[in-house]
Amino acid sequence: MEDFRLVFVGGMGRSGSTLIERLLGELPGMCAVGELVHLWRRGLVDDESCGCGAAFSGCAFWKDVGVEAFGGWDRLDPHEILDLKASVDRTRFIPNLLARELPDELASRVERYTELYDRLYAAIARVSGQPTVVDASKHASLAACLRHRYGDRMRILHVVRDPRAVAHSWSRRVPRPDATGTSPEQEMARYSPARASVQWTAENVVPALLARRGVPTMRVRYEDFVAEPLRMFQEIAGFVGHRGEVPIGADGTAHLWSGHAVSGNPMRFSSGPVTVREDTAWREGFAYRHQLLVSALTVPTRWRFGY
Ligand SMILES: [Zn+2]
Repeated sequence: MEDFRLVFVGGMGRSGSTLIERLLGELPGMCAVGELVHLWRRGLVDDESCGCGAAFSGCAFWKDVGVEAFGGWDRLDPHEILDLKASVDRTRFIPNLLARELPDELASRVERYTELYDRLYAAIARVSGQPTVVDASKHASLAACLRHRYGDRMRILHVVRDPRAVAHSWSRRVPRPDATGTSPEQEMARYSPARASVQWTAENVVPALLARRGVPTMRVRYEDFVAEPLRMFQEIAGFVGHRGEVPIGADGTAHLWSGHAVSGNPMRFSSGPVTVREDTAWREGFAYRHQLLVSALTVPTRWRFGY
């Protein structure tokens, strides 16, 4: 890991982390590449769009990264990687992955799986010329795998948001502009309020546990970030090692340039000026009985984060 530094964005999807990740990518020395956990399927198999608008196979940045990391993407068998991923990077393996020492067989799978990421991160840093890689994969199981390789040399930025807002977002139908004809997911995944509650708990408890295992972790509540975007982003930038100016104004306005985020929220395709403001659609748009259900199912974890 001498060649790069890793910032892993954790927490549950739809917690407002995409904007924070994109802002991090605007800092000098940082390269934000979206959710690398999806590269194997959505990039290599389905050839979905990069954040720059090109198909994955047509993006010069990712082409160079593939050559640098593996001697070319065609040297990899994506289905073999997806099988390896399914054998280690899943929510159900988290209890095993949190152990201090892994049983030999699991340890060797974690080693082989994280080796792929290690090569990717190093290649991204070299091709972009930016030494810090921001991986917004979020999946707690991947964070738990990476902890075994990097320990206190990685950093986790844990973004947490009110579970009712998150569950509301997961209940909505949203098309995926990046889907291609072969993509199994033509829309963003949807979860029932009950499933979203269980997932919210797992995805937010794990970063806190990894922090206790010694991984430097900063927790950011989405609601605090949108209330004071400049001050909060200054703190975040300090956590990832940046000193000096940040690309956001006192009024919460920022300018985003397009990047090469490989997968993630459709917001990764937008560029130009954006203003940070709270999305409160769930308060009116999410049925009250669902709000109550989510509130009940996410106790006591939500108390811990002040919700
Ligand atoms: Zn691109």
